[in-house]
Amino acid sequence: MVTDKYQPVPQPTPETQHFWDGTLAGELRLQRCSECSHVYFPPRPFCPDCAARKVEVFTASGKATLYSYVINHRAPKGWEAPYSIAVVELAEGPRMMTNIVDCDQTPEALELDMDLEVTFEKLTDSISLPKFKPAGGSQ
Ligand SMILES: [Zn+2]
Repeated sequence: MVTDKYQPVPQPTPETQHFWDGTLAGELRLQRCSECSHVYFPPRPFCPDCAARKVEVFTASGKATLYSYVINHRAPKGWEAPYSIAVVELAEGPRMMTNIVDCDQTPEALELDMDLEVTFEKLTDSISLPKFKPAGGSQ
């Protein structure tokens, strides 16, 4: 999908470092509130539900379903169209914006609620991006 280095590279912050350490290690890491058990994304140092500051990081299953998407046919520089911009619903509950890869970028191939699994695309030596592909291998 990415054809050169024009894609902006995420800059980890103290709040998001655990997430980027995880993707680099091939793990999708989420946070869970120790007070109310709410699981959330994106990373933040307090629970978005009850504001508790006691939260823990854990490794998610990497399983998700396709919640919504658009297919972009007008690629910005450095990208190859068409490609999907999707929102997936993780098995643990939170939704995440991502791309669906390893399948045709068509409405026929991208069915809402289809089972997905995380995969990681190495962008630089310190950043890998979480992407999602059809569960059970490429189609
Ligand atoms: Zn909470």
